[in-house]
Amino acid sequence: MIDTQTAFDRYESLRHALPSATFSPKSQTGRDLSDTAPHYDAYILDAFGVLNRGETAIEGAVERMEDLRASGKRLIVLTNAASYTRVDILAKYHRLGFDFTADEVVSSRDVAFANLPKLTDDDVWAAISAEGDDFSDAPNQATMEDLIANPDLFDTAGGFLFLSTARWKDTNTTALSQALKANPRPLVVANPDLVAPREDGLTIEPGMIAHDILAQTGTDAAFYGKPYDNAFETALARLDGIPRHRIAMVGDTLHTDVLGGAAAGIGTILITDHGLFKGFDVVPYIQKSGIQPDWIVATT
Ligand SMILES: [Mg+2]
Repeated sequence: MIDTQTAFDRYESLRHALPSATFSPKSQTGRDLSDTAPHYDAYILDAFGVLNRGETAIEGAVERMEDLRASGKRLIVLTNAASYTRVDILAKYHRLGFDFTADEVVSSRDVAFANLPKLTDDDVWAAISAEGDDFSDAPNQATMEDLIANPDLFDTAGGFLFLSTARWKDTNTTALSQALKANPRPLVVANPDLVAPREDGLTIEPGMIAHDILAQTGTDAAFYGKPYDNAFETALARLDGIPRHRIAMVGDTLHTDVLGGAAAGIGTILITDHGLFKGFDVVPYIQKSGIQPDWIVATT
């Protein structure tokens, strides 16, 4: 677990590796998303910190989605959660009370799988995954094996696919850095987040580990998910016909949700009460980073 200041400082240190964007000079403020409704026809919603915190729905979020839908707004969930298959992730939202359809959910896992490079000689992908991940949604010709269960893959895999830090240890970071230095192979990161808000604090996510590995090895990685355009273009393709200025990205982080939304040319709304900035005054962070959302609202 790490704290918000440490996470923010690490994001700032990585600005060179993140998209660039232009921002509004000033944010409007509101109580919740209903205050922004006259300005937008569609919302792209982050999950952690906007819809849920871990396995709990954020209070009022289910009702807000129903109200927005009833007033004709289009909704898309855009999440960097890569530990779940499309079927599992939809089941999770339904369990929490949301009524999203499969067409309304885009995960960074889907984006990574859709863009996964083909390995030579039918080599195996070493997947860094949560316990029980079955990879049933992996693309046709890709063979996935669990790196934690089979450490021989550090040497023998054709590539590494980072989905989850649930079972990852510092010693694994050292081992993967050494393996990539000895024999450079593709590293695909399907969750670029550095941290994620859970019920009891911030957990370290694949983006954080991957950037540590890149710093140690001087090699490269392919990142799929927010704030990169591969994720936003996939989500925006589902909202064909709605002009970008009438679409807003709603999220709890400056460096993934707001930065990525602004880089994609859509509106941006920062939620402050539930995720990364819960309990913090967000203004100094906005000033320091220059990542100014169009709207700042307390809750979903
Ligand atoms: Mg979030």
